[in-house]
Amino acid sequence: MVLIDGKKVSAEIRSRLTKETAELKSKTGRMPGLATVLVGEDPASAVYVRNKNKICHEIGFQSFEQNLPAETTEAQLLGLIDELNANDAVNGILVQLPLPDHIDSEKILLSIDPEKDVDGFHPINVGKLAIGNALLTPCTPTGIIALLDYYDIEIAGKHAVVLGRSNIVGKPVAHLLLQRHATVTICHSKTANLEQVTRQADILIAAVGRPHFVTSAMVKEGTVVIDVGINRVDGKLTGDVDFTPVSEKAGLITPVPGGVGPMTIALLMENTLKVFKATL
Ligand code: NDP
Repeated sequence: MVLIDGKKVSAEIRSRLTKETAELKSKTGRMPGLATVLVGEDPASAVYVRNKNKICHEIGFQSFEQNLPAETTEAQLLGLIDELNANDAVNGILVQLPLPDHIDSEKILLSIDPEKDVDGFHPINVGKLAIGNALLTPCTPTGIIALLDYYDIEIAGKHAVVLGRSNIVGKPVAHLLLQRHATVTICHSKTANLEQVTRQADILIAAVGRPHFVTSAMVKEGTVVIDVGINRVDGKLTGDVDFTPVSEKAGLITPVPGGVGPMTIALLMENTLKVFKATL
């Protein structure tokens, strides 16, 4: 069994981006800019946003950190997004979810210029992903493909089974795998005979949000297992896969933490750089 090292791959991507950013800066005198928008004081969201801004600086991007109080109105937030849309120094806009209940998240996401939608959640980018010509694709799913590529895992012709059909992980990763010529099956809570389906997987992506959901009986020998789940059990982070028994059968497997998690932020930065390069 090979342990897929997401920390290492993420660090390599970030160092490539750092080098490319420095080169572009010396050539153009400009630098990529990422705006993060946080509304309220949710501690987990605050940690995510702080980390994104930290990495932003490390890579050499300009960061536009917008931390707004919980009582910010929808109109005020829409006004801020308008400003960021119009600001040429801002290449990417990331609105940290969840937003407070009095703000309609969909309305906010729709207001982001699709060309600055580095999360890849705007319906225009979702549509482009479905058609197969998106510049900006969601970060976690794109990070999963980057991991498969880094480990030279063949995707074309393989049976990829995706557990979960959310708009942020399940559906987009299924599209990306399809684009890479996998035969894709998407499973969800109403899937019948789940174990029979998952046992056919050459590549199994678990994005369910339930600790230890994927048992060793659900995987065949040699399967590539990608665990997207982030669950907290007794204060400890754990994935959707029952790691120890499954790792005894898997060909390659991602740990939690240290697998898919670190990839998301690297791909967010990669998306920001892509937008910047498109403006040169
Ligand atoms: P959602 O809750 O939006 O989706 C979960 C999916 O799992 C749904 O499609 C649901 O089916 C399916 N599901 C639930 N129970 C079962 C079951 N018994 N059998 C089969 N399918 C089931 O979660 P997300 O996609 O947002 O996230 C999934 C996990 O990934 C979470 O742990 C989350 O924290 C983590 N995550 C990690 C990221 C990272 O950077 N590593 C980024 C994003 C998420 P149905 O649609 O029928 O309800």
